[in-house]
Amino acid sequence: MPGPRAFITGASGQDGSYLAERLLADGVEVHSLTLSGEPAEFLPADVVRHQGDLTDVAATRALLADLAPDEVYNLAALSSVAASWEDPDLNASINGGAAVALLESAWQVAQVHDKQVAFVQCSSAEIFGEPSESPQSEATPLRPVNPYGAAKAYAHLMTGVYRSRGLHASSMVLYNHESPRRSPRFVTRKITSTVAAIAAGKAEEIVLGNLDARRDFGWAPDYVDAMVRAARHGQGNDYVIATGVSHSVRDFVAAAFTQAGVSDWEDRVRVDPALLRPTDPTDLRGDASRARTELGWAPTLEFPEIVKQMVETDLELQS
Ligand code: GDP
Repeated sequence: MPGPRAFITGASGQDGSYLAERLLADGVEVHSLTLSGEPAEFLPADVVRHQGDLTDVAATRALLADLAPDEVYNLAALSSVAASWEDPDLNASINGGAAVALLESAWQVAQVHDKQVAFVQCSSAEIFGEPSESPQSEATPLRPVNPYGAAKAYAHLMTGVYRSRGLHASSMVLYNHESPRRSPRFVTRKITSTVAAIAAGKAEEIVLGNLDARRDFGWAPDYVDAMVRAARHGQGNDYVIATGVSHSVRDFVAAAFTQAGVSDWEDRVRVDPALLRPTDPTDLRGDASRARTELGWAPTLEFPEIVKQMVETDLELQS
C-alpha cells in the first residue's frame, strides 16, 4: 500500500519548509503548491513542487482531484497584517475565499475516493483582535480588528462548517511563531537581523513601529508539529496554539541586543509613526490547554531561547 500523501499550500514560507521536513521524515509523500517564480529557499528537494495560484479555484481543484492527498495543509495566505490595509479585498479573497474553495476541493476528494482527507487550516490569533479575555481559548469570541483578521475569521468559521458536514477539518489558531527562517518583514526577524548588523558595525539604528504591542511568541517548528498532530488525531477540531506567555516588542528588542552583546542600545532604537498600524491588537496571549490535552502538544522552546537562536543565526550571517 502506498504511504500517505500530503499537499501543502503556501509552502515557500517559514512554516512550509519546517512542515515539509517534518512530513518527509515521517515517510509522507509531500506535494507543494507555490506561486510561479516564488523563491522557496528552505523547501527540501524531495518535495514534489506544483506551481499555481490558490485563487485559480478550477486549477487547484483539478490538481487536488488528481493527487487525492490524505492530508491538506492550507498555509497559503497574504501574511502581512500591516499590508492587509492596502489590499483588503485581495486579502479577503486569498485568506478567506481561497481557503473555503480548498475546503470544498478536499471535501470532493473525500467523497470521490470514499476516504478520510484531513484538512488543516492555518488560522491566526488575529481572529480575536481586541479580545474580551486573556488568555484566549477556542471559546473566546472572534473580534478581528483588521482585514487580515476578518478574512482569517471567515476561513476559521468555514473550517467548522465543513467539519459539521463530515470533513476531518481542523483550524489551528496560531499565535506568532518565529525562527531564523522568519522573513524580515516580521518584527522579530527585523529586530534580530538589524541588531546583528549593528553588532557587526554595519548599521546604526533600528526603526520600528509599536513597541508596546504584546505578542505570544513561539517556536515555528513546534507549531508545525501541532498541525501534524491535528491532522492525525481521531477527529478535527479548533486548536489554539500558543505558549501562554506574552512579551512586548520592546522586550524582544532588549533581549536581542543583550544576546548580541550590545550594551547602551536605547539610543539605537527609533520609532517611526509611519510603521504604526491603523489598529493593532494590544495583547494577544493564548491558552493551548485543548491542544495539550487532546493532541499531547507542548511548546519546546521559550522566549529567551527563541531570541538566542535567531540572533545567533543572524550574527553568523553577518560574518
Ligand atoms: P503579526 O502579529 O503577524 O502582524 O506579526 P509582526 O511581526 O508583523 O508584528 C508583530 C507586532 O510587532 C505588531 O504589533 C506590530 O505592530 C509590531 N511592530 C512594531 N514595529 C514593527 C515593525 O517595524 N515591523 C513589523 N512587521 N511589526 C512591527
